[in-house]
Amino acid sequence: INKPLVQRLVVVGLGLIGGSFAKGLRARGVCREVVGVDLDPQARRMAVELGVVDRCEEQLAAACQGADVIMLAVPILAMECLLGELARLDLGDAVLTDAGSAKGNVVRAADAVFGGVPARFVPGHPIAGSEQSGVEAANGELFKRHKVILTPLPQTDAIALQRVDQLWRELGADVEHMQVEHHDQVLAATSHLPHLLAFGLVDSLAKRNENLEIFRYAAGGFRDFTRIAGSDPVMWHDIFLANREAVLRTLDVFRDDLDALRDAVDAGDGHHLLGVFTRARVAREHFS
Ligand code: NAD
Repeated sequence: INKPLVQRLVVVGLGLIGGSFAKGLRARGVCREVVGVDLDPQARRMAVELGVVDRCEEQLAAACQGADVIMLAVPILAMECLLGELARLDLGDAVLTDAGSAKGNVVRAADAVFGGVPARFVPGHPIAGSEQSGVEAANGELFKRHKVILTPLPQTDAIALQRVDQLWRELGADVEHMQVEHHDQVLAATSHLPHLLAFGLVDSLAKRNENLEIFRYAAGGFRDFTRIAGSDPVMWHDIFLANREAVLRTLDVFRDDLDALRDAVDAGDGHHLLGVFTRARVAREHFS
């Protein structure tokens, strides 16, 4: 038997992402021990019952004792407070990482509470997930063949980075490194804006249609386009508050293009419409 890569992994936040990370690494025998922390006692109990972790601790300080890797997978706005608590602990040589969907706010919070971003903090974001949440949805195969973006800073310790990189690869993920600002701008465009549009469209139609009767006539296209409006509202509220600047930049550009589409419909400008639809179709062929 190979020596485990990690002696003690601590996962804080045993929801879909933290639970899946813990469960997958535990199932693969990558860690000698996986310790979970969660505010919710039911999540802690379920995590042990479902074999997501070896044991749970209520207190962060007790869990982090002797940890060599600490993964933070709490909602993004809870991350700041959690980093503050961690800054007051003696973390020894532990490598700290996170899974938050935006990176700038987490890095700024780490900078503020630690008085400089620690060299052993490796910010990360798995581009995988689902509309489900909670430990019941934890799936050790969730990250297989999905991208994970790590956003190291110039001061990030190379060994810490390699350690986190390796853990994600053990889960079958395809790891890439990116700059923090670039990550937040790319995700604002490819993930955050589409969620805003899906939530916004469904709400706009729903609030004007009593009994939601209009949705009875919705076909597959509507279903596909709005699937992501079934995502967790609190998680998404956190993401928009955390990544405001990048979202606004991409939203303003899109709003100009939407206005141009509106003008084309108004003016009966088929040439403009055909141009947009054709370019979009060609672009989409690159990733479908
Ligand atoms: P989730 O709601 O399924 O789980 C979050 C867990 O954290 C809950 O069990 C909650 O009780 C616990 N928690 C909240 N505050 C806490 C605190 N201060 N200390 C300890 N536990 C606390 O959420 P999730 O979908 O697993 O998301 C976790 C993180 O991963 C978020 O930052 C999110 O942005 C990011 N993320 C989510 C997805 C996705 O699709 N769900 C994808 C990539 C990244």
